Amino acid sequence: MSAAEPKVYGWCPGALRPMMSGDGLVVRIRAPLGRLSSEEARAVAELSERFGTGILDLSARANLQMRGVREETHPDLIAALQSLGLVEQDASAEARRNILLTPLWQAGDRSHRIALDLAAQLAAAEDLDLPGKFGFAVDAGVAPILQDVAADIRIEGEGDRLTLRADGADVALELTPESAASEALTLARWFLAHGGASNGRGRMQALLTRRAAPEAHGAGVAKGAPCPRPGETPSGTLVALEFGQISAKTFAALADLGPLRLTPWRMLLIEDARVAAPLPGLIHSATDPRLQVSACTGAPGCLQALSQTRALARDLAPHLPAGLSLHVSGCAKGCAHPKPADVTLTATGPETFDLIRKGRADAVPARPHLSAAALRATPDLLTKDI
Ligand code: SF4
Repeated sequence: MSAAEPKVYGWCPGALRPMMSGDGLVVRIRAPLGRLSSEEARAVAELSERFGTGILDLSARANLQMRGVREETHPDLIAALQSLGLVEQDASAEARRNILLTPLWQAGDRSHRIALDLAAQLAAAEDLDLPGKFGFAVDAGVAPILQDVAADIRIEGEGDRLTLRADGADVALELTPESAASEALTLARWFLAHGGASNGRGRMQALLTRRAAPEAHGAGVAKGAPCPRPGETPSGTLVALEFGQISAKTFAALADLGPLRLTPWRMLLIEDARVAAPLPGLIHSATDPRLQVSACTGAPGCLQALSQTRALARDLAPHLPAGLSLHVSGCAKGCAHPKPADVTLTATGPETFDLIRKGRADAVPARPHLSAAALRATPDLLTKDI
């Protein structure tokens, strides 16, 4: 494998099976229903400072990642998280509970009820051996808002309609809230029975390139809506995190305002809070140019990174025209933005980047090997020829 080729792990790290990174273990917390009470959030912040670097990342699947945990203290951290009810007793139960619930759910609404039902049915389905990355999206509000977020099985609302869809399919199955969880498990079993997870790996979309969706799926797909921006929602206030990262201190300060919901959009939702206090690293304005930029951990935090990423992304953000997306990636894997961006800068060495237009981090560059210094000095390079 060459230095430019990223290493592909065949599994998805969790709290019990953490991944080693450049600054220690990354311990991923999959909070039940994507929600932490104020007490839980303050406890997680305290554990992050005690066992890690005091830095928390929000993943694209709305999980919270504690960075910089030492191997020798990992068991103590897990015991503390288990006592909070945030980590299962075994890794397969933890992997199975891969449910992404719309962050805009309200207590007792159909999304909330379906997610509770699905969590209970997945916990009981000990024989269901799904790949680590295989996940469910419960997106049953008035219109789906998670269609851009990775998931294999989607339960989607559209007005009064409720549908189940295999990711990548252009047909769906009409459902009721009562049947949604069991039909989702039936679809997961269909995925396994039709060879979706050979060698324990595989995703629904890949299976659907080889065969059609189940015959019973013939209904129309719910039309998606854009994800919300920072600001007030009926469920609370959304605040964005620069590059999806937050210090434990700021996380604890937000927890003082209310329970926190984790979102897949690099934002936290503070339940019931109508105004969020300005705190370091938070983005409150829907027009802040940093919202147009994605940047992965980069060097030195990621072992595979060929360069730093976030300082460059921060410096370039103010020069971006409104609406133009920029992705700065420490290697060709493109973790922070797996889809094409308007402009992608993929590191090829320390402080040098390939510039890719309308492509993913591993696409053929339009301008190879640009130095970070040249990009900072002439940010027009980003937009020339677009
Ligand atoms: S894209 Fe970034 S975070 Fe992902 S492996 Fe490469 S350098 Fe690491």
